[in-house]
Amino acid sequence: MRIGGRGGKRRMTEYAYENDFLTGKEESQRTYRQLMHESVEVLIQHFASADKPYSGADPLSLRDGVRRYPVCPEEEGNAAELLPRLGELLLQHSAVVTHPLCMAHLHCPPLQASLAAELLITGTNASMDSWDQSMSATMVEQEVVRWLCSLFSLPEGGSDGVFTSGGTQSNLMGLLLARDHYAEDRWGWSIQQRGLPPEASRLRVLCSEAAHFTVKQSAALLGLGHESVMTIPCDERGRMRVDALEKALLQLRELELLPFAIVATAGTTDLGAVDPLPELAAIARRDRLWLHTDAAYGGAVLLSDQYASLLDGIEASDSIAVDFHKLFFQPISCGAFLVRERSMYRYVRLHADYLNPQRDDEDGVPNLVGKSLQTTRRFDALKLYMSLQLVGRKRLGCMIDTVIELASVVAEQVRRSPALELLAEPVLSTVVFRYRGELDSDELIGEVNRHIREELLRSGEAVIARTRLQQNDCLKLTLLNPTATSAEIGRVIERIVSVGSALEQQHTKQYHIV
Ligand SMILES: *Cc1c(COP(=O)(O)O)cnc(C)c1O
Repeated sequence: MRIGGRGGKRRMTEYAYENDFLTGKEESQRTYRQLMHESVEVLIQHFASADKPYSGADPLSLRDGVRRYPVCPEEEGNAAELLPRLGELLLQHSAVVTHPLCMAHLHCPPLQASLAAELLITGTNASMDSWDQSMSATMVEQEVVRWLCSLFSLPEGGSDGVFTSGGTQSNLMGLLLARDHYAEDRWGWSIQQRGLPPEASRLRVLCSEAAHFTVKQSAALLGLGHESVMTIPCDERGRMRVDALEKALLQLRELELLPFAIVATAGTTDLGAVDPLPELAAIARRDRLWLHTDAAYGGAVLLSDQYASLLDGIEASDSIAVDFHKLFFQPISCGAFLVRERSMYRYVRLHADYLNPQRDDEDGVPNLVGKSLQTTRRFDALKLYMSLQLVGRKRLGCMIDTVIELASVVAEQVRRSPALELLAEPVLSTVVFRYRGELDSDELIGEVNRHIREELLRSGEAVIARTRLQQNDCLKLTLLNPTATSAEIGRVIERIVSVGSALEQQHTKQYHIV
C-alpha cells in the first residue's frame, strides 16, 4: 500500500475508498448490488451444473490450481474476471452439500432462509461481545437462547446460554464450568484465580466409548489430560451401559479418584445413539456430578412431533451442547451452549475496562462476552431466528422426520443385500454398514471397504464416510438432506456392492488387492 502521494492533509494516499465499503452512497450501493449479483449467479451456476456431489479432483491438482494465481496481487482485480475463476477453481471442486449423494458427514445443506440471513449478518457485522457493537442483535440472541432453553425444557428463569462456533466449543465450556464448579463446591478453590488445585490429577470425567473426541480434547485443554476421561462401554446400539457406569464409579471410589462430570451423548456421531438420559441424570444427582449432554447432533429432534421423546430426560442436564450446522440445516458455523443455572457463568467472567466494565452489569447493559470463550463473535443467532421465522417449527420438524425415516428405509435396503452387513439399526439419520461378500477376514473386509469409499470419491459419484466400529473399518452414510430419495441412495448401495464385488474378485484372483 502506498502512503503519501499527492494526498495532502485530507487523504493519506491517492486512493478514494468510498466504493470499497457499502455505505449510503449510490455508487457504493451499485457496486454492492453488482458484486452480490455476480456472486449469486456463480453460485447458482455451480449448483445447476453439479451433476455429481464432487468433481473427483485430487488434493495435489487442486493445490496446483490455486497456486496458478498469486494470493495477494499488488493491484486491484475485477469481479467479472475473479468470480468465474473462483467458480472454476473453487466451487467446481467443492463438496456439493445440497446434492443428495453428498452424505459423508454431519455436513448439511443450509436452508435458503439461513443463506439470506448470512447476508444480513455479514452486512451489518455486529459483534456479540459487547452491547455497543450489537445492540438489537444482543436482544435477538438472548431471545433465541430463551426459546432454546424452553425447547430443552430447562428451568425458566435460571437457565441461560450463548451461541458458539459449534460442539467443540460448547463441550469445552460444559466441562470447564463443571470442573470449576466442583473445585469451588468441594474445596472452596477458584481455578480461575489460582489455577488447578493439587488434587486436580485425581479428577475424572465419565463418558461412553462412543462419545465425541472433543470430550478428551476438552479434558486436555482444561489441564486434566486425556487420562482423566474414563470411557464406559456401550450396549449393542451404541448407548452408554448404566451397569458399566455404576461399576466404573465404584472403581473410581476405591482408587480414591474424583469423578466430577458425566458427559451424556444425545446422538453419537456414528450410530446416532442416545445415552439413557434419565438414568444418567439420576446417577449424576445422587453422586453430585455435573451432567453435560452433548446433543450436537441429536438436539434437533426436539423440533419433531414424532421423535422428540428420544431426548426425554435431557431437561435434567446441567449443561447442553447443540449444533445448528448439523440437523438444523444452518450454514457453518452455528451452535449453542446452554446452562441450567446462569450463575455458573461466574467461572468464566472477566471484566475488561474497554469492553464490559462492571458498571455495565449494575446499569443493566448486557455484554454477552461474559458468557462466551470467544471475544469478537458473529451474530449467528440470526440464521436460526430467520429460519424459524420463515420455515416454522412444524416444517422443520418434518424435515427431521424425513431424514430419520430415509435412514431406516436405506438400512432396510442394506439389510436386504446379501453382500452387505448392516452394523446397527439406525436411531437418527446415519446408516453404518460394510461390504462383506464372501470374504471372511476382517482385515481384508476393511481394506475392501476403504477402497470402495475411495473409488466413489475419486469418481465423484458419491461422497460417503468411513468409520470404525468394534475395530472394523466400515462405511457410513449420514443423511441430512430431506430432498434425497431412497431410490437415489439405493443406486449408490448397488454401486457399493458392484465395486466391492469387483475388488473381491480381484483379490481371489491375485490374493491381494492392488
Ligand atoms: C459434530 C459433533 C461435535 C463437534 O462439534 P463441532 O460443531 O464440529 O465443533 C461434538 N459432538 C458431537 C456428538 C458431534 O456430532
